[in-house]
Amino acid sequence: MTTTTATTGRPGLDDRDDLADLDGSVRGNPAAHRVLTGDRPTGPLHLGHYFGSLRNRVRLQRLGVEMLLVIPDYQVITDRDIADRLAEHTENLVLDYLATGIDADRATIFTHSSVPALNQLLLPFLSLVSVAELHRNPTVKDEIAHSSQAAVNGLMLTYPVHQAADILFCKADLVPVGKDQLPHLEVARTVARRFNERYPRPDGTTVFPRPRALLGAAPLLLGTDGGKMSKSRGNSIPLGADEDTTARLLKGAKTDADRRIGYDPAGRPEVSNLLLLAALCQDRTPEEVAEEIGDGGAAALKRTVTEAVNEYFRPIRARRAELAADRGHLREVLRAGAERANAIADATLAEVREVMGSL
Ligand code: ATP
Ligand code: MG
Repeated sequence: MTTTTATTGRPGLDDRDDLADLDGSVRGNPAAHRVLTGDRPTGPLHLGHYFGSLRNRVRLQRLGVEMLLVIPDYQVITDRDIADRLAEHTENLVLDYLATGIDADRATIFTHSSVPALNQLLLPFLSLVSVAELHRNPTVKDEIAHSSQAAVNGLMLTYPVHQAADILFCKADLVPVGKDQLPHLEVARTVARRFNERYPRPDGTTVFPRPRALLGAAPLLLGTDGGKMSKSRGNSIPLGADEDTTARLLKGAKTDADRRIGYDPAGRPEVSNLLLLAALCQDRTPEEVAEEIGDGGAAALKRTVTEAVNEYFRPIRARRAELAADRGHLREVLRAGAERANAIADATLAEVREVMGSL
């Protein structure tokens, strides 16, 4: 049997996700891999983050792969003038990471602004992409359409290159992300290739690996309005929401009038998205969930999804509440992460300067 994920049409639940393909090579030699990924400190993490990327991160870390998590605070001001409640959002991201199972002792969690050498890589990298390429990026176009700013700023246009610096500074080869990030991963791969071609070492070796994206089981989870679930679009269900809030948000989710519930990602994206969500929480297929609901209509579907989400996230939410009591620990995680990230970034910048012939 073949299923497809709610919105992408790519193979979905049956082969789980990209990590399944990689499993052998990761298990065989976890030390040969390094993961870098991250989330903007613009609000609490949501179910899209969890099933799009976070769950894969935790699995990779448990397999023994080194994990770096960047909190790109400079990228908050791509689509707004001021980074509102930055410290609070940053701490809460750390909280979400730890609550979902990231082991802070083995992960490097840090903010952009605390690692100067990482940001310096942006300068040579910007010279490797054309202005036309920056303008063509479909995700940037979508984000410009949702931006609250009257004019597009330079950081918005160039942030995929900044993200290439995030990935390449630590020479990560695996990047667990949602579908919206695929164009940015292409930018990172292009930057790595062009840098290596332009600045080979005398012995023919190159500085950067070519990273690959790792899509999760829900590469594009939809929000309650039927668009991509996003922290900044008022359509998300936060991981840390309480059970009543989860029920209220899901009750307001867009569906359709057909009482017969069926899994049809192309024809009925919102209903299929809810089925996928329940299925992921219950480790079933969306078809099984649809079959069970039958002619129950949207109300029964939403009840099923609410129960499934609340059940799945109950232990995560309990752990989150415990961890939230110690804000000092969250800051300490970031301090230690910044120290490790700076050491890596300084070493990479030194290599870059050397191959570029800087004094
Ligand atoms: P914002 O609205 O502030 O841009 P966001 O919800 O889009 O927030 P990001 O911080 O931009 O979240 O993205 C962090 C990671 O989560 C990226 O890898 C992204 O692909 C993934 N992601 C975000 N939204 C979804 C979603 N709805 N489904 C699957 N993955 C997602
Ligand atoms: Mg985003």
